[in-house]
Amino acid sequence: MTTTTEQVPSSSEEQKPSTARYADRIVLTTYPGQSVVDPIPLTWGAQSPAERGPVLVSRNRNTISRRNAIGAHGGSYAIYNALAVVAGDLPPDFRPDFLNTQPTFDFPTQPAWLDPTKIVAMDPFGHDIVKHYGKYLEQGIDVRPTIAITRASMRVSEISEAVQSGRLPVDGAIVHSEQGDVRVTKVAVEPVWYLPGVAARFGVDEGLLRRALFEHTGGGYPELVTRTDLKVFLPPIGGLTVYIFGPPERVSDEKVKLALRIHDECNGSDVFQSDICTCRPYLAFGIEEAIKEAQNGGSGVVIYFRKEGRALGEVVKYLVYNSRKRGGDTADKYFQRTENVAGVKDMRFQALMPDILHWLGVKKIDRMLSMSNMKHDAIVEQGIPILERVPIPEEMIPADSRVEIDAKIHAGYFTTGDAVTEEDLKNVKGRGWECWEDTTGRFSDPSGKRLFLFA
Ligand SMILES: [Zn+2]
Repeated sequence: MTTTTEQVPSSSEEQKPSTARYADRIVLTTYPGQSVVDPIPLTWGAQSPAERGPVLVSRNRNTISRRNAIGAHGGSYAIYNALAVVAGDLPPDFRPDFLNTQPTFDFPTQPAWLDPTKIVAMDPFGHDIVKHYGKYLEQGIDVRPTIAITRASMRVSEISEAVQSGRLPVDGAIVHSEQGDVRVTKVAVEPVWYLPGVAARFGVDEGLLRRALFEHTGGGYPELVTRTDLKVFLPPIGGLTVYIFGPPERVSDEKVKLALRIHDECNGSDVFQSDICTCRPYLAFGIEEAIKEAQNGGSGVVIYFRKEGRALGEVVKYLVYNSRKRGGDTADKYFQRTENVAGVKDMRFQALMPDILHWLGVKKIDRMLSMSNMKHDAIVEQGIPILERVPIPEEMIPADSRVEIDAKIHAGYFTTGDAVTEEDLKNVKGRGWECWEDTTGRFSDPSGKRLFLFA
């Protein structure tokens, strides 16, 4: 088989320098066994980082023939990388200087790092590539980290309030000021998928997974289909961040208690404090409980996944809000409204989520600060027991978010309160638009029946 190529026009004096950055033959895809294809071996789940081999996706000059993975670094930010190159700001062959970038905490190697079934959605050695793969860096091979570990101090208004009202003491180590400043260790993780392992988690054939990823990214990654010898893919999606309160070595210590919140991104609530859902209140509660556990000699962890709006994105999310608010926002219709617009209730698929827990060495969760049955089941299926589930306290639920939380409880979310019946759901109503979306103008809806006040 031969490489599929296209000729691009040869350079002329008008040609901008940016187009001259690349060879005049575009390699659209590659095939196993080609003379230019000589991947550095990558054996997922091998018994040491050296045997496993580095993950290489770079198309830089020194690395392109040695690539052993598909995709690009940075998740969706890979596109900005391309823009920086085409704009002339970033040399295409730029190589990072890793001096002093090493982790602030040396997480101990866990058995799961060497198990090809336990970790399939991140590179367990992605945090320390200088240590593990320095010899490749010296040869000019473009190995890049996919995990970074740092420390910070953070201030969240609900935590400041908890300190000021006496719920959290200033201990000087974790909470280190009367204003509620908190010390934290943070781990940012970029997704790195071992395709056979991802397919196994979903119970689907690897070939079918590859085909679906190819088709539904606009045919953007043809090597998913042509290079079945390459088993690793860096998908163009968001990653996750771990926030660890208290000494990070306690996270994997079975002898102490662990409080954990797994949180999926909801920018409108998490940052801008919209009251239509319980996301920020539950996140703040999770942080407070995590800090408490750490102050009591245990460990507290919050993991933040970039899966905006149940991984449907904000455009779909706002369309659903509109259809809810215009259609009479009752809890019995809550999920149907999302399905009408998105086709599904939820696209978060928690099956890959527990990888980070295996990576951290979590062996059991004493207090799980989540009501989600999907998160619970995914973690338990991965062999990590959950000893207690802690719902969001009633008083933290904003009035307008009752529609969502009651619909979720009815659909199987954990609660210590009363069961919610189908009949109850019909009576749980969100706020309409008529009384508050009322600043500059008014118009009638197409049926002419109702008057909307419209911003
Ligand atoms: Zn939310």
